[in-house]
Amino acid sequence: EETRSKYVKDKKLGEGTYAIVYLGHLSRDPSSLVAIKKIKINTEFRDGLSMDAIREVKYLQELSHPNIIALDAVFSSKNQNLNLVLEYLPLGDLEMLIRDTNGIQYGTAEVKAWMGMLGRAVWFCHENFVLHRDIKPNNLLIGADGEVKLADFGLARSFSDPYRPMTCQVITRWYRPPELLMGARFYSGAVDVWSVGMVFAELILRSPFVPGSTDVHQLEMICEGVGTPAETNWPGVTSLPGYVSFDKRSLGARDRNYFVSRFGTAGPIGVDLLMSMLALDPRKRCTARQVLEHKWWSVEPQPTDKQDLPKKG
Ligand code: ADP
Repeated sequence: EETRSKYVKDKKLGEGTYAIVYLGHLSRDPSSLVAIKKIKINTEFRDGLSMDAIREVKYLQELSHPNIIALDAVFSSKNQNLNLVLEYLPLGDLEMLIRDTNGIQYGTAEVKAWMGMLGRAVWFCHENFVLHRDIKPNNLLIGADGEVKLADFGLARSFSDPYRPMTCQVITRWYRPPELLMGARFYSGAVDVWSVGMVFAELILRSPFVPGSTDVHQLEMICEGVGTPAETNWPGVTSLPGYVSFDKRSLGARDRNYFVSRFGTAGPIGVDLLMSMLALDPRKRCTARQVLEHKWWSVEPQPTDKQDLPKKG
């Protein structure tokens, strides 16, 4: 209605799993660029979910933080499509930087800068009772000034059920914590902290740490890479609806030496932070606040200034 006519859609920027993204601008100011994300909602979902989705998305308009993508407006277009007017971020995302191993070099100081921005974003969400639930390098967009911005809030949850066979192939599971893979019904901010830990690991390795190809394979890779969930390290885990016993290859939790051998470039204190984010038992995992209070931020090297961070060429 009114909001709709405030914006003009220009060319298509890209297409994701559940949205088409356009470049747009304010009707009365062609120089004010925005990204307009048109959510594809199939008819099956439209009636039941769109009101909830709109309510949630509206709430996100109030989350204002330098490391969270700004959502300027929400409107519906013809066929009741939901349109999100977002801050335009033309420099790509963290996944592009991680994968560009020929063109982009970075070290611990850059990893620390990116992790700091991600940590502050997640802390701010949790302070405001918002869980992201889909943190991954591809959802970390980069601003013109080098600022990392967390994007794609709650949408995966609102618009697709991850347990539907159709969508389980398209939603990446590599950042999903063991409690979700085992079907826990009640979960907390710890789910996001696990994903942040996986992003940390991937920034160091420059490839995904545990890239499972099915949910069961994902759990196997977590057993191998992080440790095997068991009553000893995670009381109650065997009662989760999706608990799978991996006793034959049981390793318990991986020890510090193993993490140092793979992630040693982060330094011993960085390894300590990574291990506390990847605790198998969500109750033992550190909180977003504890991430920000960690000693790692005060030891050398200092994080790179955001304007000096590497950018997509
Ligand atoms: P995906 O998460 O699969 O990349 P999205 O629907 O989030 O899909 O986005 C599709 C494409 O649109 C992205 O790859 C990116 O090129 C572009 N895009 C998304 N959001 C923005 C934005 N805020 N500013 C500029 N480009 C964007």
